[in-house]
Amino acid sequence: MTADIAEAARVLSDATDVTLLAHVNPDADALGSALALGLVLHRRGVAVRVSFGAPDEVPETLRDLDVAGLLVPAAEVPAAPPVLVALDTGSVGRLGPLADRVSTAGVVVVLDHHVSNPRFGHVNVVDDEAEATAVVVLRLLDELGVELDEPVARCIYAGLVTDTRSFRHASSSTHEVAARLLAAGVDAEAVSRPLMDSHPFGYLGMLAKVLGRACLERDAAGGLGLVHAVVTLEDAAGLRPEEVESVVDLVRTASEAEVAAVLKELRPSHWSVSLRAVSRVDVREVAQLLGGGGHRLAAGFTATGPADRVLADLRTALTRTTTP
Ligand code: AMP
Ligand code: MN
Ligand code: MN
Repeated sequence: MTADIAEAARVLSDATDVTLLAHVNPDADALGSALALGLVLHRRGVAVRVSFGAPDEVPETLRDLDVAGLLVPAAEVPAAPPVLVALDTGSVGRLGPLADRVSTAGVVVVLDHHVSNPRFGHVNVVDDEAEATAVVVLRLLDELGVELDEPVARCIYAGLVTDTRSFRHASSSTHEVAARLLAAGVDAEAVSRPLMDSHPFGYLGMLAKVLGRACLERDAAGGLGLVHAVVTLEDAAGLRPEEVESVVDLVRTASEAEVAAVLKELRPSHWSVSLRAVSRVDVREVAQLLGGGGHRLAAGFTATGPADRVLADLRTALTRTTTP
């Protein structure tokens, strides 16, 4: 790991043109990590662009992190970037329409924290014990001898506070990292509130409909219980992806269920499914059986077809994972 970080630092110190990519439907860890590293390289005179394969729009809550205007549409990512950095991207496929750049790039650096990462780069800094890719990026910035300032620290904090669910899943050393970020000037409430606690009023009506249809299946997941909800395109009309993504955080509060699932309709009958577990079920294993991935307690997969069939496949995968 130490050797990998040193190698990544060497590649980036020598680079004059760097493309940083987050996974599709980027979250604060993916985009915050990319923008933190991108900002540091940009200030060193490197030509930097930050992008992601889909969707076309940058999530509204993440736009303010881009203080130097580094974000470019996927169409502007060079066909063969000299140096490509993939962040928070557990597999090549998670780059979506930009996945081909992994084979055309001169050098590929992977910075990630997914246990299943196949280490698809030439240089791989993958720490599955890191709570967020942002932690891995901060280690790299330390290796590069960067002095933290507020805009960089804010990007790192955004990734850390979201992936740790407000530091619930953070080691003591990661709390020390948070202290460093605050000392660099981060305003924790100002960063966290738009990311986790603020939605347009229409969100409440959407929740009323979606949560009103939620189902509890006590016998599912080997008797540990499954709670699920479905967000159709109609439910989500006029709302941002941020509103849809946060539904699982409410569904998961049903105390009778170990596992929570939310089916989010991307296009008619195309679903992105969020899985969460309390502690006992490894939802990454479940997601992997269904072609997805993630972490032990937070994972996801995509599926097509009627919602009922996606749920039936999910029940089967849960049974396989929870039956000895
Ligand atoms: P989400 O429920 O979308 O917040 O995703 C939770 C975690 O699951 C993410 O951090 C990813 O690691 C992983 N994940 C979500 N969707 C997929 C997918 N389609 N393929 C692989 N991993 C995924
Ligand atoms: Mn992510
Ligand atoms: Mn992450």
